[in-house]
Amino acid sequence: MIQADTILEKMKNQKINYDKVLRKMIVNWTRNEERPSILLHSCCAPCSTYTLEFLTEHADVAIYFANPNIHPKNEYLRRARVQEQFVRDFNERTGVDVKYIEAPYKPHEFMKMAKTRGLTDAPEGGERCSACFGMRLEMVAEAAVELGYDYFGSAITLSPKKNAQLINEIGLDVQQLYDVNYLPSDFKKNKGYERSITMCNDYNIFRQCYCGCVFAAQQQGIDFKEVNQQAKAFLDALAEKDNVQS
Ligand code: SF4
Ligand code: SF4
Repeated sequence: MIQADTILEKMKNQKINYDKVLRKMIVNWTRNEERPSILLHSCCAPCSTYTLEFLTEHADVAIYFANPNIHPKNEYLRRARVQEQFVRDFNERTGVDVKYIEAPYKPHEFMKMAKTRGLTDAPEGGERCSACFGMRLEMVAEAAVELGYDYFGSAITLSPKKNAQLINEIGLDVQQLYDVNYLPSDFKKNKGYERSITMCNDYNIFRQCYCGCVFAAQQQGIDFKEVNQQAKAFLDALAEKDNVQS
């Protein structure tokens, strides 16, 4: 199946539009009558909305929730459940069969990485974020190899707050280490971000107020007590609903 590098080689000496690269890859799949399987990282539901709508037209997709960066645990659990619920609702409404897979939650590994590399005080968007993207993309690549997917990638290039150029460069580097192809993307392009807002409203999706890690949240002045209380209330309500239904 086509690798991004085949297209990137022809685009040397220009700023890469990764959305264009992905669309060229899709043209190639279509021409060869291929429908690849993709393991796609996501860290909460909003970035996966339009991304799934677009990709499932051309491929079989599974969402991989692999986010040791998210703090505190209740907030991690809330984002995971909201993501899982969105996948379920999306499948029901559209008739597709997107899978939801969750990696074990190992926040100490993220903390260890940030501390040993001296990145705890780095500003959001800086070196800690590059390391965080790398860590999570490696988790997805590793799982994609294990589970036999054709491509690994990330939904978070949809977010205007994330540096899609950087995420794609890191993804292409990670590709060198694993026996699986990286799926380049810039899902915010072609009104992808605008569509995600409409879909979040349609599906009544919760939007988080900070990226995920304790360091950036502290810099942003996030009140963890409040986050924890709200996340716990959400999880308790969900558990009660499940009890009533069972
Ligand atoms: S980048 Fe932000 S909005 Fe997008 S999935 Fe991750 S936490 Fe959610
Ligand atoms: S701000 Fe977000 S991307 Fe950056 S290190 Fe924290 S969780 Fe990761």
